[in-house]
Amino acid sequence: MLADRMKRISSSPTLKVGLEAARLRRTGADVVDFGAGEPDFSTPPSAKAEAKAAIDADFTKYTANAGIDELKEAIANRYHSAYGVDYSPGQVIVTAGGKQALYNTAMALFGPGDEVVTHSPGWPSIPEQIRLADAAPVIVRTDAEDGFRVKPQAILSALTARTRGIIINSPGNPTGAVISEGDLALIADEAKARGIWVVLDLCYERLIYESVAHNLPMVLWSRMPELSIVTGSMSKAYAMTGWRCGWVIGPKQVIAACGAIQSHATSNVCSITQRAALGALEGPQGCVDEMLEEYRSRRDRVMDWLQSDSRIQLVRPAGAFYLFPDISELLLDCKIPTSVDFAQKLLTEAHVAVTPGEAFDAPGFLRISYATSIERLREGVDRIHKFIRSFGPAPGTA
Ligand code: GLU
Repeated sequence: MLADRMKRISSSPTLKVGLEAARLRRTGADVVDFGAGEPDFSTPPSAKAEAKAAIDADFTKYTANAGIDELKEAIANRYHSAYGVDYSPGQVIVTAGGKQALYNTAMALFGPGDEVVTHSPGWPSIPEQIRLADAAPVIVRTDAEDGFRVKPQAILSALTARTRGIIINSPGNPTGAVISEGDLALIADEAKARGIWVVLDLCYERLIYESVAHNLPMVLWSRMPELSIVTGSMSKAYAMTGWRCGWVIGPKQVIAACGAIQSHATSNVCSITQRAALGALEGPQGCVDEMLEEYRSRRDRVMDWLQSDSRIQLVRPAGAFYLFPDISELLLDCKIPTSVDFAQKLLTEAHVAVTPGEAFDAPGFLRISYATSIERLREGVDRIHKFIRSFGPAPGTA
């Protein structure tokens, strides 16, 4: 008999798509994978060199649970130079990816009877982690019509006497939408007045394509440092998903609480990974800009290709590396009941893996990750169009 909490959560739907694609690939199929939220680039040489040196120097034992001092300092320094905020290394804990950063935070801050407001379409692990902490997620919807903007009024009107936290992900997964500094400030001012935590998931902070002001850490730090948490990750900016390295930055007592939780769960992040992360943060940063430029060009080209069918409706995402088309019109034309069915058929019949919108609380949408080479993107989009044509010509084009 499983614990009661297992009735409330299920395993990650974003990870599941990758598993299905891998299973099909093992049967010999040539699968184009647009499912994974995972960069196709190599980890930067500076990270690899530090990792190799760590192994050779036998830097392979336990480290301090919260991470090595040099890495915590490098993370604090990066936030200082990028955003002007002043956090000490003691206000940082190194975690196994952004996922453990958010998990530790949820467990440290939320409990039974608490409500935590977040937005959708959104990354599925956020509400599940809130449930794992025995709190209740309160979901505020954002809409394609206004670019999936997180509206402060919508967040504020979801606050109740039970609200204990607000979690904002910007740029957002799967929409790529960014919240403006002004909008976050409105949320922060009210949260501060009510004593509510604001948690900022900045996992895609280095992947912003438009020139928008996005100094969100400063918005929180200058207003409510005692009630704000910033989480981040090496995974996306430095193509280091498998290394598992992220962080929580915040008030010392929250970092200590995260440390206590982590000390009974995983202990320190892999010692070699920590040295690799240090190498990446202190090494040349040109690789981050190069990846950004490549993602931008992929985003624009794939959008053009997909939109040649007017039933695929897209918002140009400002950040992250996903397109999130509304395919509801297409589903009607193709007589496919749901986007889950569409994604399943697309995988089995055309060998293209995408994540259905249902994974993000958005039926009728698909998430297409463009963190893959332009050749594979072209191939995958061609297959998508061919798959759609197999249901008949688009209305008005016969
Ligand atoms: N964050 C990535 C995604 O959304 C990786 C998978 C996961 O951990 O959810 O695809």
